[in-house]
Amino acid sequence: MNEVITRSRPAKVAPGERLRVAVIGTGHVGLITCTSLAAVGHDVVGNDADRDKIDLLTSGRMPFYEPDVAELLDVCLADGRLRFTGDTSDAVSGADVVFICVGTPPRASGKANLVAVEQAARQVARAATGPLVIAEKSTVPAGTAERVQRTLWLERPELAASIDVVSNPEFLREGRALEDSLEPDRILVGASTQRAFDVMQRLYRPFVERGVRLIETNIATAELAKHACNVFLAMKISYANALARICERADGDVTAIVEVMGADPRIGPEFLGAGLGYGGYCFPKDLVAFERLAADLGYELPLLSAVAKINDDAVDAALHKLRDALWNLEDKRVALLGLAFKPGTDDVRFSPALALAQNLLEEGATVVGYDPYAAANAVRECPGLELADDPYDAARGAHCVVLSTGWPEFRELDLAKMAEIVSFPILVDARNFLEPEEVVSAGFTHYQMGRPTIHPPPRHERG
Ligand code: NAD
Repeated sequence: MNEVITRSRPAKVAPGERLRVAVIGTGHVGLITCTSLAAVGHDVVGNDADRDKIDLLTSGRMPFYEPDVAELLDVCLADGRLRFTGDTSDAVSGADVVFICVGTPPRASGKANLVAVEQAARQVARAATGPLVIAEKSTVPAGTAERVQRTLWLERPELAASIDVVSNPEFLREGRALEDSLEPDRILVGASTQRAFDVMQRLYRPFVERGVRLIETNIATAELAKHACNVFLAMKISYANALARICERADGDVTAIVEVMGADPRIGPEFLGAGLGYGGYCFPKDLVAFERLAADLGYELPLLSAVAKINDDAVDAALHKLRDALWNLEDKRVALLGLAFKPGTDDVRFSPALALAQNLLEEGATVVGYDPYAAANAVRECPGLELADDPYDAARGAHCVVLSTGWPEFRELDLAKMAEIVSFPILVDARNFLEPEEVVSAGFTHYQMGRPTIHPPPRHERG
């Protein structure tokens, strides 16, 4: 059994401390919430508007790829601590805590679309059978909990005073979601009553007893803190990418610069990789939503649009390298290795690799993608994309190979074999992921982000 799962077992909830938990929305956040709370011994019911998802989960199958979750799902279903239902009343009836984990996608204006949050709040209000805590885990702008509370008053005036709304943002990273949920850096709860803090302390006691820090704030602070964290991480990535653009103009090496920066404990090495930029369901939308929130509050924050622009420029910089390498992109065949927004997930939402694919297609190139998990999702999102069964299949006959997602398996590629089957031996490492010496000694011209392009030695000098 996975080591993190083993460490979280046996169930740690003390007798009499067990809570009945409902989770509305069993996607990337909701499902992990279900499994980690069931793993520590609470009784959990997951609810989703998507019946297919409920059917899959009930039979122990995963609706998306996330390492090790299937294993814990099996354990929790077998324990009888976790079940799933398509009926919100069934999930909420008798619950002590109800988590809202529905999506908060961006509107065209960039503001968070909170329609699903309102729907979930209304469903919960109608289904509530007694006092409970509603915990918003979806990432929402400050002020959302207050709107949920007002919804409760409109829907169930007789019960609203006995329902507390708290903010309990989720900090998990896709690809490492289970580890982050079972062993989080911190748990944040924003509430306005001691009664609500007491329930959340009881819910998270098994984690706190293992040494996890529980931070308590008021509700608006917790809502703001989630945005603050995501925006800061996006800012670090964009700073590295801005440095990459300068290095490209000044003959510097961004990898060496961020190594120097990361050695300073005040800066730290995480999230300082130059490449194609950030993507996924959090950073892009949360950054814009936070900027819009600040503007609505009367505070302009141009820093954030600069961060987003630098991120978009990272894809443009990769395109520029492709044009430099291939001259015209029309009728060129480009192999994209990696389609997920990052390794460890099949999630392609706001994937920079797909943004690159889309641009290449619009310029007339043929794009053949390979991804160990995200291929099916990618082609749904980007229908012009062709799919290959393995990296060599993608590279066969390609005029350029682009490494667009840093999957660990790409470190094991037989680059010499790949160099034999491409049309032109050109590799754009858009994640600065491969060892330059290995790439060029295999015979490729190696383009990187924010680092000098390296040409291979003459054939007779290669190892
Ligand atoms: P998701 O799209 O994977 O899951 C959302 C689920 O909610 C879907 O299964 C959908 O069918 C369901 N749903 C929508 N409306 C519903 C309703 N009224 N009743 C029942 N189910 C409903 O989204 P996600 O990635 O889990 O993100 C959810 C929230 O968590 C977002 O606000 C996101 O910003 C935040 N978040 C995401 C991550 C992440 O890494 N994905 C991390 C931290 C926070």
